[in-house]
Amino acid sequence: MKITDAKVFVGGPAKNYVTLKIMTDQGVYGLGDATLNNRETLPAKYLQDYLIPNLIGMDPRRSEDIWQFFYRGAYFRRGPIAMAAYGAIDMALWDIKGKLANLPVYDLLGGKSREGALVYAHATGADLEDLMDSIAHYTEAGYRAVRVQCGIPGMPTASYAVPEEKGAKHFITDYSGIRPKVESWDSETYMRFMPEALMRIRDRFGPDLKILHDVHHRLTPREAAAFAKEVEPARLFWLEDPTPAEDQDALRLLRQHSTVPVAIGEVFNSIYDCNKLIENELIDFIRIAATYAGGITHARRIVDLAALHHVRTGFHGAPSHSPICMAAHAHLNAWAPNFGIQEYLVLGTPECDALFPSDHRMENGMVHVSDAPGLGVAFDEEEATRYEYTPGSHPVVRLEDGTMWNY
Ligand SMILES: [Mg+2]
Repeated sequence: MKITDAKVFVGGPAKNYVTLKIMTDQGVYGLGDATLNNRETLPAKYLQDYLIPNLIGMDPRRSEDIWQFFYRGAYFRRGPIAMAAYGAIDMALWDIKGKLANLPVYDLLGGKSREGALVYAHATGADLEDLMDSIAHYTEAGYRAVRVQCGIPGMPTASYAVPEEKGAKHFITDYSGIRPKVESWDSETYMRFMPEALMRIRDRFGPDLKILHDVHHRLTPREAAAFAKEVEPARLFWLEDPTPAEDQDALRLLRQHSTVPVAIGEVFNSIYDCNKLIENELIDFIRIAATYAGGITHARRIVDLAALHHVRTGFHGAPSHSPICMAAHAHLNAWAPNFGIQEYLVLGTPECDALFPSDHRMENGMVHVSDAPGLGVAFDEEEATRYEYTPGSHPVVRLEDGTMWNY
């Protein structure tokens, strides 16, 4: 069996999805997601110029050897561009393998460990009352877990992940051009406001709602330790990205001062970015995505390492991941013995459903994985002709005096 061709598509509704389609001499094809938010053309170019010419003629069933060929063969290893490109190839090969075996990917991984995977939605508000309304909207829709992000009184621009105008559709990528908007940040103002806000949310919604909050790498290790200690009474499900993730030892200080569960890792792209965090049990949830973490093959290694250390999964599920990546997560979530929760934003929008038809479905705050062979997601190439690459940018963050800070 041989790979005969592969194509890359860039574009999509509201996001520049990078979709890989691998064709074989037996008529079976596979789909992968290489979307690297705001740098989408780079993994696409890597695939087109270097990886696809090598893929043609390879046996698609040898997904492990193909992964090792590209990873070890590159000499300059890792990084999000390369790992997203390998990730797309790997997902497509698992998709092909499942279709050949007439089995869903979760069965190839070891079978279902659960009937549904708990998900969390994103609630945001211009102020606390607005946020309360947004949380109520999701709980009424059946969500049992909600990430809460709020505008901070006294902060000149909206804090992380809060829409600029009340009620505005929230997409944090700005497609008006390549130059980013500038947000302002002040850690002291944030730290004065947010712990009390989280307590008020807990009081309003009671003990059962799983409340998550994302600091988005904005605090120093000492500030993060103080903040984590202060938010303990709100009984968060997790505190996300309290410090920048490059410094794996930074979380020791937080651990010494708080028992709040910590989730980190959405910017990680290999096991070497998180092995110390996991082995030293400095985190409770690992936030990798199948795309940036080199596909199902490499993500599975991280999940297995995490399982040895009581670390559960909480895969990244921002709108930047296409439904193909989210399908890979659905299969990993169905199987992983150490599944925790899934961030959930993309599946279910009409435009996405038209471009990527699938029967993965959300019910009562849980994703139910498709039982179709392979990843259980298709790609409508006719529909794809409606879209093209649109340059966009993420905001950047500066302190009030102009100092660049962490987005
Ligand atoms: Mg996050």
